Amino acid sequence: MIGYKRIVVKIGTSSLMRENGVHLQHMDQLARVLTDLRAEGRELVLVSSGAIAIGCRKLHLPTRPTEVRMQQAVSAVGQCEIMHLYDKVFGEYCQNVGQVLLTEDDIADDARAANLAATISALMELGAIPIINENDSVSHAEIQAEHTRLFGDNDTLSAIVAQLFEADLLIILSDIDGLYDKNPNEHPDAQLIARVTQVNSALREAAGGKSTWGTGGMQTKLDAAERCLSSGIDMYILNSGDISAIYPAVAGEAPRGTLFTSH
Ligand code: ADP
Repeated sequence: MIGYKRIVVKIGTSSLMRENGVHLQHMDQLARVLTDLRAEGRELVLVSSGAIAIGCRKLHLPTRPTEVRMQQAVSAVGQCEIMHLYDKVFGEYCQNVGQVLLTEDDIADDARAANLAATISALMELGAIPIINENDSVSHAEIQAEHTRLFGDNDTLSAIVAQLFEADLLIILSDIDGLYDKNPNEHPDAQLIARVTQVNSALREAAGGKSTWGTGGMQTKLDAAERCLSSGIDMYILNSGDISAIYPAVAGEAPRGTLFTSH
């Protein structure tokens, strides 16, 4: 097998949602590609956001509630629905999945982190793909999206999971091709950066605003990249509009996107 062997894939809310519902095409393509890579002998973990957005749809809420306890309740409904959908789409390809929900304490505490790593490795042995999210119903971190907290968003969570899982590649699927030298929504002449070996202040400056559903934006992707680079893990940002780009990425080829690598 050529390329990366242990891979964490993270999909963001903006890639999982359409204007008026769940983006079933993206979900289905993701299930198909990950199942295929699994059959190739690669080990995979999926980190998925989207619980609050999907919960809002299911509960017919026009906007995301502002009260934290309501957001947590919506996320409890949405998490159920999102796993139901994943189970269905992965089931189409006879691929088992398992839900793993984490809080900050699970990572901060060494014994709990070791348990978590053991669970993930047992899921690997069983041939199942773990689908990880932050346990929004008990944790405020992602909901508040305060970057002072440990997770703050699933970009950071996915990098922490990549470290725990001793992955060699993290792929962050986003609603954009990768990191640009300036915010492409504001600057039509922005250029895609294909390769980054170090996250510096100039890059931080380039990574500006946020999106409608996504809570992270590019800043938290850079946090994730820094974490990966410090552990010798490569990281890609790819556009979820072409999920099949995961194939050349894991094969070590160079699809359109941004590769963060210290190698
Ligand atoms: P996701 O929900 O897919 O994780 P986000 O929507 O949170 O992703 O972050 C991606 C968004 O960040 C882009 O759609 C874009 O609007 C914004 N952005 C700001 N600056 C940049 C930049 N320099 N390069 C790429 N995207 C940028």
